[in-house]
Amino acid sequence: MRVLMIAPPGAGKGTQGALIAAHFDIPHIATGELLRDHVVRRTALGQAVQAYLDCGELVPDQVVLDMVREAMVAAKAAGGGYVLDGIPRNMQQARATYLIARELGMTADVALHLQADDAELMRRLLARAALEHRSDDTPDIIAQRLALYHEVTSPIISWYRDRGILVSVDAMRSAQQVGREILAALEAMRPFLDQVPALARRSVDLTGLGDAFGATGPTAGTSG
Ligand code: AMP
Repeated sequence: MRVLMIAPPGAGKGTQGALIAAHFDIPHIATGELLRDHVVRRTALGQAVQAYLDCGELVPDQVVLDMVREAMVAAKAAGGGYVLDGIPRNMQQARATYLIARELGMTADVALHLQADDAELMRRLLARAALEHRSDDTPDIIAQRLALYHEVTSPIISWYRDRGILVSVDAMRSAQQVGREILAALEAMRPFLDQVPALARRSVDLTGLGDAFGATGPTAGTSG
C-alpha cells in the first residue's frame, strides 16, 4: 500500500498516517516530524530549517525532497509500501515526489485528502498547543500555516483527482471515526491495486457518506 496524505494542519494527518502505517505495516514518512527531529538534535540541517518551522513557512523544496528520497529508498528496501505525511506541500513538490517514486517503481496508489474547516482546525491546534508546546502552534502562526495551505497546497488536490487516485475523507469527526473510514476505503481498494492500470483509476469521494460509512466499516483502533 502506497499512500500520500494531503491535509491542512490540525486535520489529523499525523494520527491517521500512524494508523495506516501500523495497519499495513509500512513506514510512516512524516516530513514535519523528520524536520523537528533535526531541530531537536541541533544538526546542521536542523539549524538551517528552524526559522522556517518557527514562523510556519515552508522550508526549501530541495531540503525536504532529499530527505524524502532517502526515506523512500529505505521504504523500498523494507517492502515498497509507505505513507507520506507532510509532502507534497506545493505543485513542484508534487511533481518531484512523483518523479522520485516513479524512478524507484513505487508511485502512490492513493492520495488521501483530509477535509476540515478552518475554525475547527484552529480550535484543534490551539488545544494541541496547550499540550505539546510546538513553536508553530500560536494563533498567528496557525493562521499563517492555514493560509499557506489554501494558497499553495490545496491546489495540488485536483492534480491527484485528474490522475484518478484521490480519496477524500471528511475529517471533521472524531479520530476514531475518520480512521475507521480510511482503513475501510483502503482495505476495499487493496485487492485491485496491482491489477488496475494507473490510467484507469478513478477518484473516490467519501465526504458525502458521513457517519454511516464509519458505522458499517470494520472496527479498527486508532493510535491517538
Ligand atoms: P507539519 O508537521 O507537517 O505540520 O510540518 C511542520 C513544518 O515543517 C511546516 O510548517 C514546514 O515549516 C515544515 N515542513 C514540513 N513538511 C514540509 C514540506 N513538504 N515542505 C516544506 N516544509 C515542510
